[in-house]
Amino acid sequence: MRIILLGAPGSGKGTVAEGLRSAYGFPKISTGDLLREAVREGTPLGIVAASQMGKGGLVDDATVLALLRERLARDDCRGGHVLDGFPRTLAQADSLESIGAPGPEVVFDLQVSDEVVLRRLTNRRTCPKCEAIYHLLNKPPKTAGICDACGTALVQRNDDTSEVIVERLRTYHAKTEPLVARYAAKGALYRIDGDGPAGAVLGEVRKVLDAVLGRAESTGTGE
Ligand code: ADP
Ligand code: ZN
Repeated sequence: MRIILLGAPGSGKGTVAEGLRSAYGFPKISTGDLLREAVREGTPLGIVAASQMGKGGLVDDATVLALLRERLARDDCRGGHVLDGFPRTLAQADSLESIGAPGPEVVFDLQVSDEVVLRRLTNRRTCPKCEAIYHLLNKPPKTAGICDACGTALVQRNDDTSEVIVERLRTYHAKTEPLVARYAAKGALYRIDGDGPAGAVLGEVRKVLDAVLGRAESTGTGE
């Protein structure tokens, strides 16, 4: 099974992907995480990506695809995976089809208002080492400023400032939102209200997935 998470920045894709990883064991493949890792390591791809990410635009397709292909080729992705942040353009959706999925494709659109996004992202702190996500009000770390999972000092992502968030939202509405109609036309899309608390959003997603997984098992077509 390939699970695709669509939704604006701050809609909760990363949190849902993490929840699905712990509930079903599907690895979470986040192109944002892959890009930030390449930037930190200073690889040639990372150097190209860094200049594009800081402004709220998209990294070019060739760079993102190279990272994604390499990641999807690893063994842990064979039994299924969750894509967080890919595809982000119609062209990327075309490329994804050529990569081939392990079993059925299920797409979720996490729907949130721009106001909620702004409130969430300005309060977001992340762990630069393990990519764990915190929220100063809704999900603070146990010790202020320190990652619960690995003890690293938390940071505010440099694209989580209000000017860059506004630009990321603009990019999302222009380039990524059209994918919702495309997947709806394929009959693969499930719309989820993303405004609620994280646990409720994950619960809705799991309900759909359990139904799809159950159906796939009983008809013998799933993998
Ligand atoms: P968010 O969804 O909160 O914007 P991500 O961590 O998914 O955060 O992405 C951060 C940045 O990385 C994006 O603003 C964009 O510049 C780049 N990026 C991530 N995924 C893609 C992609 N599939 N195509 C192009 N750029 C991407
Ligand atoms: Zn950490």
